Amino acid sequence: MASACVLCSEPGGRLLWQSAHCRVVRVDEPALPGFCRVIWNHHVAEMTDLDVASRQLLMRVVFAVEAAVRQCFSPDKVNLASFGNVVPHLHWHVIPRWRDDRHFPEPIWGRQQRESTPARAIVEDAALTAIITAELAREENRHEQ
Ligand SMILES: [Zn+2]
Repeated sequence: MASACVLCSEPGGRLLWQSAHCRVVRVDEPALPGFCRVIWNHHVAEMTDLDVASRQLLMRVVFAVEAAVRQCFSPDKVNLASFGNVVPHLHWHVIPRWRDDRHFPEPIWGRQQRESTPARAIVEDAALTAIITAELAREENRHEQ
């Protein structure tokens, strides 16, 4: 039920960017500083609940966020994940990973591998938003050509 869903009633993180269809929020996780979620605004559970154009639109935003996270934080790897087991409201996690982060090479929800994690680059929300916006604009131009 929509009213019981946390992603229907709350942003789900610090809002970086939004459109009529979806939004990008930043997760407050200092050890993984570029960790973002891309959340579809309407309450649907699965990618195949969206029409093809909407799926493409959502993934275009996911890839723009991935590109922005790579530019800002130069992670060793980016993990893209969509589960929705706990909150069955369609969202993608975009998670920068480093070989020396707490869980690597496990998923961040897996078994912890080490105690501490080195300090990472500090990038303000506004700077990350600007790069996401630029990446989306670049994608638009590519489609028009
Ligand atoms: Zn919802």
